[in-house]
Order: sequence, then C-alpha cells, then structure tokens
Amino acid sequence: MADLPTEPVSPKATPLPPLPSEDPLTPAQWKTLLAITDAVIPAIKPMSTANVRYDIAVADSEYLTAVSKLRGLTPENDPDAEAAAKELLEDYASKDPAFKLELSRLFGMYMPQDQRQGLLMVLNVLNTRVGSLALTGYLTPISEQPAHIRESILQSWANARLGTLRQLHRSLTVLAKQTWIKCTPSLRRVLGVPRVPVGMKPGKGYDYEFIQMPPGEKPEVIETDVVIVGSGCGGAVSAKNLAEAGHKVLVAEKAYHFTPDHFPMTEANGWNHLFMNGAFVSSDDGSVSVVAGQAWGGGGTVNWSASLQTQGYVRREWAAKGLPFFTSAEFQGSLDRVCGRMGVSTEFIKQNRSNQILLEGARKLGWSHKPVPQNTGGAQHACGHCTFGCGSCEKQGPVVSYLPDAARAGAKFIEGFHAERIVFSNKGRKKVATGVFGTWASRDINGGVAGSPLTRRKVLIKAKRVIVSGGSMQSPLLLLRSGLKNPQIGRNLYVHPVTVLGGIHEEEIKPWEGAILTSVVGEYENLDGKGHGVKLEATNMIPSSWLIWMDWKNGLQYKLDAARMKHMAGYISICRDRDTGRVYPDPVDGRVRFQYSTSKFDKKHIMEGLLALAKIQFIEGASEIFTVMPGMPPFLRDESAPAGSGINDEKFQAWLDEIRARGFRMPEFGFVSAHQMGSNRMSAVEKDGVVDPEGKVWGTEGLYVADASIFPSASGVNPMVTNMAISDWISRGIARGLEERPRL
Ligand SMILES: Cc1cc2nc3c(=O)[nH]c(=O)nc-3n(C[C@H](O)[C@H](O)[C@H](O)COP(=O)(O)OP(=O)(O)OC[C@H]3O[C@@H](n4cnc5c(N)ncnc54)[C@H](O)[C@@H]3O)c2cc1C
Repeated sequence: MADLPTEPVSPKATPLPPLPSEDPLTPAQWKTLLAITDAVIPAIKPMSTANVRYDIAVADSEYLTAVSKLRGLTPENDPDAEAAAKELLEDYASKDPAFKLELSRLFGMYMPQDQRQGLLMVLNVLNTRVGSLALTGYLTPISEQPAHIRESILQSWANARLGTLRQLHRSLTVLAKQTWIKCTPSLRRVLGVPRVPVGMKPGKGYDYEFIQMPPGEKPEVIETDVVIVGSGCGGAVSAKNLAEAGHKVLVAEKAYHFTPDHFPMTEANGWNHLFMNGAFVSSDDGSVSVVAGQAWGGGGTVNWSASLQTQGYVRREWAAKGLPFFTSAEFQGSLDRVCGRMGVSTEFIKQNRSNQILLEGARKLGWSHKPVPQNTGGAQHACGHCTFGCGSCEKQGPVVSYLPDAARAGAKFIEGFHAERIVFSNKGRKKVATGVFGTWASRDINGGVAGSPLTRRKVLIKAKRVIVSGGSMQSPLLLLRSGLKNPQIGRNLYVHPVTVLGGIHEEEIKPWEGAILTSVVGEYENLDGKGHGVKLEATNMIPSSWLIWMDWKNGLQYKLDAARMKHMAGYISICRDRDTGRVYPDPVDGRVRFQYSTSKFDKKHIMEGLLALAKIQFIEGASEIFTVMPGMPPFLRDESAPAGSGINDEKFQAWLDEIRARGFRMPEFGFVSAHQMGSNRMSAVEKDGVVDPEGKVWGTEGLYVADASIFPSASGVNPMVTNMAISDWISRGIARGLEERPRL
C-alpha cells in the first residue's frame, strides 16, 4: 500500500450553531450570487470535455500543463497526485454544499442590514435586463451567461471607471475566495497543509466549571464583589489579581469555552466560533477589515504569541500626555510580571523558514531586526495554526495561565453571557456602578453550541466594582448602551493597519509550519521622528487568512497561484497609526460598526514598509514577489538579477517605483487589522478621554475599563503585553481600593 499521510492528533468536531430559519436570499438572488462565485472559482476543464455553460474551457494542452504544474506541487506522499491536480482544477465554488451554507451564515448572521440590502439590491438589478445591461454590458442576466462571459464581466469590473464596481469586484471575489478556501478539501490536498501542526502534542487544559442557571421568568440575581465583562487579555489578568487579593470575582464572557482537544479548529469553523461576528467586520467604507477574538480567553485564544513590551518612545509619549505611570517603575514592574507569568522569552524560539528569511534579509540590508519573545512558558512552540486555538496548550494565553490562576483563587465564571448594560445608582452627580445586566444562553442539549440553548435567562450580577474588558470594539458599545454620554466613548480608535507582501521561493517554505510571529524588523518604525512608522513582521499563513488577499485575475490563474503557497513567504507591513477612527453601534441591531479610513500620512508609512519587505524578499532570492494591490503585476526575477544580488537591480527598482506610483488605490484596496486600541482612551483630564489614570470611567464610581481600549494611542508593538500590564496595574489598584473602602 502507498504511504498514506498520517495525522496523529484529530481534534474533536465543532459543529456550528443553527442558521437563521429564514433564508437571507431569494432563489433568484442565490442563482445570481452563485453564478458569480462560480465564475471567481470556476471548474477548469479541457475544451474537449468542458460544458461551456458551467466550466471554463481551456485548450487541452493548457489543461495538461496546469495538471502537470499542480501534480508537481502536490505532496509526494499523496497516492494519486494527478487525481489531486484534476480535483482542484475541476472544483468550483459551490460544488461543496458547505459553501452555500457558509454564505447563508454570512448574509443571515454577520452582514449588517444596510450592507446586506446593498448587496442584495445589486443582485436584484443584475437579474433585470436593463440593470444587467448597465452593469455588465449584456442584456442577458449574468446568471444565464456561460462561465467565460461571467469571468470576463468580473474582469471588467476590476478595471471599471466607476469605483463602486471596482469595490463590488473586490467584495465578491474576496467573499468567494475566502468561503471556498474554508470549505474545499481540494486545495488543502494539493497544498499539503496538515489538519494539525506537525508534531503537535495535545495539551491538557484546565477543567473549568461554569455557573448554570435554571429556567425562569424573572432575572436570576448573582452577587459578587467584582464582575468582569470579558475573559480576554485584560479581563483575565484582572480576574487573577482580584481573586488572589481575596475578593469574590465573577468573569462573564459572551463566547463559549472549547477544551483544547477541539483545537486547532478547522478553517470553516474556527472563524465562526472564535472571532467576533465570524471575522466579518469591515469599516463603513469597506477599506479596513477587522479581526478580533470572541472566545473564552478573548484575543488571547486566537493570537500568535508575540509578546513585545511597550517601547520607550511610546511610554514617553503617553507620559507626556499627563500619564506619568507609563514611565514609572511600576509600569515596568507590571510588564515584567505579566511576561513572567506567561514564561515570555526568546530562548526557546525555533525560527521557521519565513522568519529566518525576514531576519536574514534585514541583516543583509543592515536593518535593525530581532527575535520576538513568545509567551510559551519555556517551551518551543510550533503552532502555526494558533489562530484557531492552541491544542498543545504551550501558548500561555489567558485560558492556560491567568484564568486558571483566578479559578484556583476562587473566581467564578459564566460563559454565553452577553452583558447588555451596566447598572447604576446615583450618588450626587456621579453614577455609581452596582452591577451588570445581561442575557445568559446555556449550551444545547448535547452540551455543545450547535443546537438551540436549553435555557435563556436574564441575569443581574450585583457587584461592588464593575470592570469592562470587552475589547476595543465592544467595550465602548457597552458603555454607550449603559447610558454614558461622554462624547469620547468610541472615538480615537487605532487599528495598526496592515498590508501584506508575498514572495515565491524555489525551496519549500511550508509557511504554516513552526511558530507564526517570531521576528520583527524595526528599521522603519519611526519614520516621522515622532514614533510613527511600520514594523515588518511574519504573519499567519493559514490558507483562508493568506490566500484571500492574492489578486484574482481569472479562475485558472488564481488556482495555480494559490497552489504555490508551499513556496511562499508572507509578511506584513504593520503601521503604528497616527490617525484614528470611531466605533459605534449599528442603528438597526446594535452590532459593532466602525468608521476608519487609513490616512494619507499612515498610508505613506505602510508603503515604505511594503517596499522594504519587497527588498527583503529580493535579497533573499525570491523568484517572484507580489503585492496584493489589484492589477499590480508581480516582480519576476530573471537571469539579469540572480539570487543573492544586491537590491540595486534596475528592473527591480523600476518595479518598486511602479508600486509607489500606483499607491493604495481606493476603493479596490483593503487593509487589515488584528490590533484595535484606544476607543476608551485614558486621559489626565476628563474632557480628553473616557477613563482616568487609574482606569476608572470618568464621571462614575465603581466602574473601570481594563482592556486595549484604554491605550492613550496606538501601542506600536503588538498590544497584548502592554494591555495585560496596564490591566495588571489597574486591577491591583481596584483591589487596594476595595480593601481600603470595602463599601461605597
Ligand atoms: C488573530 C490575532 C492575532 C493576534 N496576535 C497577537 C500577538 O501575537 N501578540 C499581541 O501582542 N497581540 C496579538 N493580537 C492582539 C491581541 O490579542 C489583542 O490586542 C488582545 O486580545 C486584546 O485584549 P482585550 O483585553 O482588549 O480584549 P479581548 O482579548 O479581545 O477580549 C474581549 C472579550 O470580551 C468579550 N466580550 C465583549 N463584549 C462582551 C459583552 N458585552 N458581554 C460579554 N463578553 C463580552 C469578547 O467575547 C472577548 O472574548 C492578535 C489579535 C488577533 C485577532
């Protein structure tokens, strides 16, 4: 028998919650949408056998060349590489029924109403002859067109004069690419991405217990000393400190806990279970997509272990705003304490190939670079799949470190609890927080979350102190829902906007292997002399988070490009943004909405980072270098620029000039953010911010915020450690306050 691939660990299934009972699209809308998505990811067949209504027909010789390329990329241990190649070519977006279900989830659950209505209206217009003529140039609706015409219509949208059409092209191609990659087995087979990280040893998690409540009409009332909303990085640190100081602590989290034997989740389920709004959150103008953890352990459950301490120039900037804590020994003490608890160190890092290339490229260019400390508790951690949860428990995120400490000190937990509002009593002109009101949804009859909750119950948690740790996108909304009027709430949102750059190398990189983010290049981090600029870092290389950004020109090109991922090294140019946006509640259903358009100033810095990344790829011998700017051709190395030559090569320099000249064209270009900060910023005086220097919400008693939303501005470094250190200090202050004045 041929050597079949082995996978020693098989995580438990994580079925998704039920879809809304009402279909979000009419049959006609589905027909049009799937006709479009099946043109983005079409079946490619040889002319001799293709049905041109459905398939993209290519010359038989072109088909054979494509099969041969894909066969060469398929892992050696695949028993039938030819079949794998053909399976990928002949796959199309809606072939697997999971594709349509995933789109239903997106339209029915995640898309804000106005965006959904906008997109559905376009589908309706495309279904009429007049509308079709206006948008596609044909009287025949796109859903009736053969595959190659549908493809050419999409191509024409990419270059349309009308920005709305270019944006439509981006939205629809990203939607189709991402949903297909999440669902299809054919691409994974050719890529050879294993289901779990190579060599992963399953870890033993902490045995959590969660409060259960009987059904009932009246709100259940729970009393505690401190209630913490959100179990993420800020919330978990606060829980440990306050519980260990002897106070009764209750952590209330809207997401559910998954034991580590569910990790890493599949790409299809991980985005849904572990991210806010299924990771489908974009700015009102569509130019920035945000990913934020919504999980037991918050962002700490899905993040990438990078544990950098706040840099001096940022601390000085914050101190200069009247917040001397940031240059004090106490802050350093908090930074060291959280790093100590999580075993943060560079000692055990094994740089994977992508990180080696970044470090070595920077070295050859004479640029400052260093390894990034990891919170892996003294273990070598190779969890390139941590975005969907860490099955080895080597990553010492909140679920492995701080929350178990809190539990051992007596803290209690509720999962599935959505905090709707903070409850206040009045003391003169001050509002005194006395608790949190919300809804608890239990697990389903099987103890999972795939069915309807057995019990839904309103709950009032009475407490002497309320700590809001819901993260920068959700904490401001809770404050606003609670009737607080400070106009600063939700403003000053920083997102560390990111763009990516990839290179193709002759060698196999297997970028999903090893640890994700273990190196950083700091050469461009202070481009304005005031601490604004970019860092260059390696990034998560899981197909559904990486390949969706690759430019789509046609179905065949996209599949062939995607299949080369094994040879790709991908990096981010991540910007410490000077300019800000705003979070606010959706007027229809209150979900998170935000305004953010990367400013010209910040875009200039991201561009410098992008060009710098290209130079690193070039000097490290990439045979092809690509941006994710729509329509921007890749750089192809030829004989004139042999691997190892310096960066002065004329053709390469001309390509860099072309990138710079092109710029980030809107609306077809998009940035990404995994770091949201500042939307309840800390300030020395009330009019400038939302919380005071001790984390207390201005104009209130007993109400605190401890999460990344209180950063006075962008942290510049990846924010987890900064956030945890500030929360460490705030929660120690709250503990002292409770001891001094046990009752208000
Ligand atoms: C994919 C990814 C990778 C990252 N990698 C890194 C990295 O390597 N290093 C680094 O420094 N940073 C990283 N970050 C950023 C870092 O994880 C976040 O900055 C950090 O988690 C933010 O912490 P927080 O306390 O503000 O909130 P979070 O950790 O986001 O936690 C907030 C929690 O509150 C819950 N919540 C919100 N509203 C309510 C409500 N109304 N009721 C009940 N619960 C609620 C949410 O469900 C969530 O679980 C990454 C982020 C992402 C998304």
